[in-house]
Amino acid sequence: MLLAPRVEEVILEDAKRRAPEEACGVVAGRVRGSFKLALAAIPCANASVAPEAEYEIPPEELLRAAEQIEGEGLEVVGFYHSHPFGSPVPSGIDQSRAAWEGASYLIATPEGELASWLWDGKKFIREGCILLLNLPCHPVP
Ligand SMILES: [Zn+2]
Repeated sequence: MLLAPRVEEVILEDAKRRAPEEACGVVAGRVRGSFKLALAAIPCANASVAPEAEYEIPPEELLRAAEQIEGEGLEVVGFYHSHPFGSPVPSGIDQSRAAWEGASYLIATPEGELASWLWDGKKFIREGCILLLNLPCHPVP
């Protein structure tokens, strides 16, 4: 996963601004096989009844974001959300709700951590995450 610096900025800012609630949104860019380039992040409302513990993007916001992305000639690369009280690792809720096979799920913390996870339809697989300009946004293990 290659990240435009602006994408990282928007996601980390959103995670910080909405804490202690979870931030969430859609990540847009280009996908060619396993190659992914994230060029934009679109913040969405968190409609969950327990926004401090989970996130839920309202269907109409998801549709609006998808239309905007398509209008710009881009594709949905994945989604982002934040863990205000935890590490950037998928939770049990994230596992049970992951729906888009092949999508990347980026998780941020208000402290500025960011990690990307590929949902393969059964489990999350940690993805390397490289900021364009050759600056690593998170060390690849
Ligand atoms: Zn989560």
